[in-house]
Amino acid sequence: MEYDLIIVGAGPGGCMAARKAARDGLNVLIIEKRKEAGMVTRFCSRLLRLGEGGFASDKVITDVDMDKATCTIEVGAPGKHFVHMHGVPPEASFAYTGELDPCFNESWLSPAGVNLDRDANCRTIDGFVIDKEVMLRGILMEAADAGCKIQGATKCLEIEDTDDGVRLKVKSPAGTETLRAKRAIVADGSFSALAEQLGFNEGRGPGPGRLRFMSFILDRCNMPYREMRRMHCAQPSVHRGFLNVGPWPPGLWELSCSAPVSSTVRLPQIIEEFLTNSAFSYIFEGANILDRQGCSMDLRPPVREAARGNVICVGDNLAYAEVAIKGAIGCGFKAAEATALSLDGKDGNAAYNDYWTHAFNFFSPEYNKRAVRLPSIPAVLDDDETDTLFRWFADQGVSGLPQDILPDNRAQLAEDLPEITAKLFSRGKRKGAPAAA
Ligand SMILES: Cc1cc2nc3c(=O)[nH]c(=O)nc-3n(C[C@H](O)[C@H](O)[C@H](O)COP(=O)(O)OP(=O)(O)OC[C@H]3O[C@@H](n4cnc5c(N)ncnc54)[C@H](O)[C@@H]3O)c2cc1C
Repeated sequence: MEYDLIIVGAGPGGCMAARKAARDGLNVLIIEKRKEAGMVTRFCSRLLRLGEGGFASDKVITDVDMDKATCTIEVGAPGKHFVHMHGVPPEASFAYTGELDPCFNESWLSPAGVNLDRDANCRTIDGFVIDKEVMLRGILMEAADAGCKIQGATKCLEIEDTDDGVRLKVKSPAGTETLRAKRAIVADGSFSALAEQLGFNEGRGPGPGRLRFMSFILDRCNMPYREMRRMHCAQPSVHRGFLNVGPWPPGLWELSCSAPVSSTVRLPQIIEEFLTNSAFSYIFEGANILDRQGCSMDLRPPVREAARGNVICVGDNLAYAEVAIKGAIGCGFKAAEATALSLDGKDGNAAYNDYWTHAFNFFSPEYNKRAVRLPSIPAVLDDDETDTLFRWFADQGVSGLPQDILPDNRAQLAEDLPEITAKLFSRGKRKGAPAAA
C-alpha cells in the first residue's frame, strides 16, 4: 500500500487533516486540483466569526447537545496570531501570519442610510476577516514539516472504496495514474463529484435551490463608520438582494451580491451600477476594481453519515457553506483523528459521525424550523418601504439578525406597518434551511 491516507482537496478541511495526520505519524499525501495547494479562486467572504451564531439565527439551540465548531483568535504582534478551535483538542490550534481585519459589528443599511446592527454596540469584535491563502499555506507548511507529501495540479477523477483500501484515479501534468491508500479523506468542497460517486448522497434531497455569487475586489472604500464593519446594503431599485461590503486582507475590500441560479439578472452589471449610480456610490468613490471572483452555493440538505467504509467526507461536500472555514478546519482535524483510530482497529467512523452531527446548527430541527425563511427584504419591498422598515427597526431600538427580529416582533410590526408586514410574510411558510438526509 502506497499511503496510509490520501486527502483530496487543500481547502481548510483538507489542510488541517493533512497536518494532523502527518503529525500523528501517518504516511499521508494531499492532492489539490489547482496549480498550487493553498491557492484560492472560489469566492468566500473570509470572515472567521466568533461565537456560536449561525447563518440564519443567533438564538441558542436547545434541542441538540451541541459542541459547535467555532474558534477564538489570539491576536499577537503583526503576523504572529493564533487560531484556537473549539470542540476539538487544543493541538488543533494553528499559527496565522497574515493580516487580521477585526469587524466590530455587522450592519444592514437602507437606501437612506438608516442601519440595523447585529450587535447593540460596536465595542465588541464580531469576527476577523483573514487572508485565506496565507492561512491555508501556513497550515500546509506545518503539514509538510511533519512529513506530509503535497501535490498540486492533481485532480482526483475517480475514487473507489474497496475491502482492502481506496483507489484513486488522478490526473496531473505527468499524466493519469492510480494511487492506493488504506484510507481517504475527501475534502473537495461543494458540488463534490467524488461524494456522489461513493454514494454518500443517496437519499439526499435537492433542497431549495442554488445561488450564484459575484464579488469585485476593490482597492478602497470610504466606510461610513468609525470602526470596521461588514455591511449589507439594500437598494431594491438596483438589486432585489443585499450588496455586501467587507474588508479583504491584505488592505483591500470586497463587494458582493447573489441571485438564484435560475434568475436572469447579471450580477457584474448590478455591482457596476451599485458602484457608480446608487445611493451607496459615495462609499466607493475613487475605488478601482482589482479582481473578480465568483462561486455558486447549493442549499442541499446535509448528509448525516459522513464517515463510512474507508472514506470520510469533510467540510462543504456533504453540507452547504454554513460549515464555514472554522467548521471545515474542525472537520479536518477530527477526520484525521478518526482515521488514526480506524487504522488502529477502532471505530473511527462512529467517532467522526458523532462529531459531525453535533458540531453544526444545521443538524438541529429547532434551528432549521427557525430558519424557515422570510424573503430577503429587498426582494419584496421597494426603496421607500425599505427605508420605512429600517426607521421602524431604529424606533424599536432592536438589534440582531433581520431573520430573528422580524418573526419575534411580527405582532407589533403588523400593527405599525401592516402593508410591509403583509409583503414580508405573505408567502407563508417557505422552504428554509434544509433538513438532514
Ligand atoms: C458566497 C460564500 C461566502 C462565504 N463566506 C464565508 C465567510 O465569510 N466565512 C467563512 O468561514 N466561510 C465562508 N464561506 C464558506 C467557506 O468558504 C467554506 O465553508 C469552506 O471553505 C469549506 O472548506 P472545505 O475545505 O470543505 O472546501 P473548499 O474550501 O471548497 O476546498 C475544497 C478544495 O478541494 C479542491 N478540489 C475540489 N475537487 C477536487 C478534486 N477532484 N481533486 C483535487 N482537488 C479538488 C478545490 O480546488 C479546493 O481547493 C462562504 C461560502 C460561500 C459560498
